[in-house]
Amino acid sequence: MKKIFLSALLLINTLLIYAQQAWEKDFTKPEATEINEPKPKIVRGSFNGAPPSDAIILFNGENMDNWVMKKDGSPSQWVLKNGVMTAKLGTGDIQSKQKFGNFQLHIEFKIPEDAPRSGDRNNSGNSGVFLQERYELQIFDSYQNETPLYANGQMGSIYKQVIPMANASSKPGEWNVFDVYYTQPQFRSNGSVETPAYVTLVHNGVLTLNHFEIQGSSKYIGIPYYEPHGKGAIRLQEHGSEVSFRNIWVREF
Ligand code: MG
Repeated sequence: MKKIFLSALLLINTLLIYAQQAWEKDFTKPEATEINEPKPKIVRGSFNGAPPSDAIILFNGENMDNWVMKKDGSPSQWVLKNGVMTAKLGTGDIQSKQKFGNFQLHIEFKIPEDAPRSGDRNNSGNSGVFLQERYELQIFDSYQNETPLYANGQMGSIYKQVIPMANASSKPGEWNVFDVYYTQPQFRSNGSVETPAYVTLVHNGVLTLNHFEIQGSSKYIGIPYYEPHGKGAIRLQEHGSEVSFRNIWVREF
């Protein structure tokens, strides 16, 4: 009994000391709102698309070792030539071996110069960057193209979920850059969504998606919805067009 009484007394005393310290913290002084730890780690930055010092290099033009076929995990069958990898028609999507959670992604790509540009719902320059294998950031020939897909399926859309705020598309045959900032969704133990995924996109230096709330896995038909998942690969789409890629790197955060 005496022991319990002493423990309670000690606890009350500790609480009183904390309360006194909080009371005495003088918010009229600048030090009261200055925090010193943890110090951010040092990272050499990115200039002209070069990877920052801590980036994970997924493709630098030398080989496709970091990529596999989505269908069966076999080595990438896409074409590697002159430091560029290009979708090989009929082979299917490729994806990074490594899986990522929250990340920053830099990726450069080019739609073939001779991509067909006429016809309703044509497939001109169709590819895509699937974030965590399931949320498609669309690649398409949307440069001055009067017969593109629906606007929420054009270049820089999250496919069928949002129209980008600007069309910053380069001409077919010229390079584009996507800088992507992605926050993965969180799921409760019962599988429901605790927080959705968010994406920000800078396309050729132009902000085109600003913290967009992703609505679920990309679907051609029907309403998107979430299915619980963990980390996922970066998946590149082969969709009937010989779209090329170079300089791909990721930073997880
Ligand atoms: Mg696509």
